[in-house]
Amino acid sequence: MPKLPDARRIKAHRVYSVVEAAEALGCHRQTVTRWIKSGALQADTSARPWLIRGCDLKAYAQERRCKNRQCLAPGELFCLSCRKPKRPAFEMADFIFDGPAHGRLVGLCPTCGGLMHRFARHDRIAQIAGDLDITMKGALPRLNGPD
Ligand SMILES: [Zn+2]
Repeated sequence: MPKLPDARRIKAHRVYSVVEAAEALGCHRQTVTRWIKSGALQADTSARPWLIRGCDLKAYAQERRCKNRQCLAPGELFCLSCRKPKRPAFEMADFIFDGPAHGRLVGLCPTCGGLMHRFARHDRIAQIAGDLDITMKGALPRLNGPD
């Protein structure tokens, strides 16, 4: 699977050539060329090398990343079998701690009955879970006190 372009690595105030843009995003040079030719990514193509403003590149990479991820709305989990975001069956999900600050929401797909997951930071759970009924699973890790 190709890596998703990571917009965080793009500096908005810089100007990028196609090669630099591809390197920064971790994708192929031809991929960036294709984005420009299709008109999806704005660039100065009046002379070689083609130049892309960092802010345009950043915005485009963010948009793409979002599309690939199919940005989930609050209360939605992603079903890998159905390849679609869905609200879990019974409007219920478990939050399972994978670490001190993060974990995942797990719910049942209402269509295929498979498990759906959504990774989430614990402090963002309210935004991510929306109005779902969440059951916390796994104890909050305790701070290490004196023995
Ligand atoms: Zn499903």
